[in-house]
Order: sequence, then C-alpha cells, then structure tokens
Amino acid sequence: MPNALEQLLLPAECLLCRSLLSFPDADRTVCSVCRHRWRAVRPPWCERCGQPEPLFGGCRLCADWPAALQRVRSAVWLEGGAREAVHALKYAGLARVADDLAAAMSSMVLPGGEGAMLVPVPLGPRRLRQRGYNQSARLAQALGRRWHRPVAELLVRVRDTATQTALTPAARRANVAGAFEVRNEKCGMRSPPMQNSALRNPHSALVLVDDVFTTGATLAEAARVLECAGVTAVLAVTFGRAVLPDFS
Ligand SMILES: [Zn+2]
Ligand SMILES: [Zn+2]
Repeated sequence: MPNALEQLLLPAECLLCRSLLSFPDADRTVCSVCRHRWRAVRPPWCERCGQPEPLFGGCRLCADWPAALQRVRSAVWLEGGAREAVHALKYAGLARVADDLAAAMSSMVLPGGEGAMLVPVPLGPRRLRQRGYNQSARLAQALGRRWHRPVAELLVRVRDTATQTALTPAARRANVAGAFEVRNEKCGMRSPPMQNSALRNPHSALVLVDDVFTTGATLAEAARVLECAGVTAVLAVTFGRAVLPDFS
C-alpha cells in the first residue's frame, strides 16, 4: 500500500534514475524505464532451483537440498538497477519499494503455489533491531496482496549470521546451519491457530519469500526446519538472483 506520509514527503522521482514520476507511475518508486531494464530470469533452467543448468551433467546447486524444497524461482537477475532496488528495500526504509519489487515477482508462475501461504525468511534479532523492519516480510506482504495469499511469519531466526557476500557455497551452508526455528511456544511466542493448521495440514504448500537468491543455502536451511516440523512441500520465490561466481 502506498504510504501517504511517504508520498507527501518525498519528491515523486524514480529511486534509480531520478527522473520525475508522473501518471500512471506516480505512486511507484521506480519508473517504467528502469523496471524494464531489469533482466528477467528465464528458462532454460533447472526445474527445481531455477538456475541455468550447466552444459554438462545435472544441476549441482540443488542436489543437496532437503526433499521438501521443491521449486525456487527468482524474478530478475541481481545486477545494475535491480541490485540498487534491493539495496533501497533493505536500507532506505521506504515501504513502497517492496510494492515495485513484488510487482516484478507477481508474474512468476509457481505450480502448486496457488493455495499456498507465504512465509518470509526472517532476519536475526540484531539486524532486525538495526533495520527496524524485515525486508522479506515487506516483500511477502506486498506479494500476498497481489497473489491474494495469506502471509504467516512461521519462522524465526534464532541467531544472527555473518554477511554471506564473500562466502563459498559450503561456507554459506555452515553459516546458516541451525539459524532458523519454527515459531512455537518453545520460542516464547504464541502460535496463532492459522499458523498451527498450516503446519498440521500436510497438503498445504508454503512459499518462502526472500529478497535475493545466491546459492540457495538460506532457503534450503529454512526448508529443512519446516520439513522437520512436518511440512512436505516448500516452494520459494525471490526478487533477485545473484549471478554466481564460478566456485568449481
Ligand atoms: Zn527510473
Ligand atoms: Zn537445480
């Protein structure tokens, strides 16, 4: 939802190129020219993880994922303006940025996701305090409005993890191991009835929502925890997908 105060206080200019936003882009944060520059992630890809497949052999990126994590898709490649937009979502504090990113995500087709509940990937307690909001929760809310799906904050991040930017895939997996728990009484939080039923019903898929996909280590760990709690089908969507350096 456009925040009335933000609209009042901010000049209506594109976050990325600073050109003036006029009708019909007046309540956007990114102009249509910049949005069209975002490069969509397209097939051919690995059906499971959505990564372009290697020329020889099967996909190694998703080979070790928990069985429950069935499908991951990202809207655009994380480069140029798309990277800047994610930066704005994470650090500029503008709630409306999430709407423009969710708009790009909403055209993704996720078989099995039609009846699913959206679950944002949580932030650690320290980062949440510093930032004041979880950017993935904002994305999930904005996407939920477009997809008409409920959002449930089923996961908590029980410890802060190091920034993953410079880590190899193996180091990333170790970095996020044990970082998540399913929200329940044990964590000192009440479980709303809807969230419990989401976990009890083995047929309801959950869709994890995150801002960026890099190696999938974070989504795999979140899915592993949900799988332990009895969820059999976990899908995931992200706005951006990092162009991976070659670790082989
Ligand atoms: Zn622009
Ligand atoms: Zn794959």
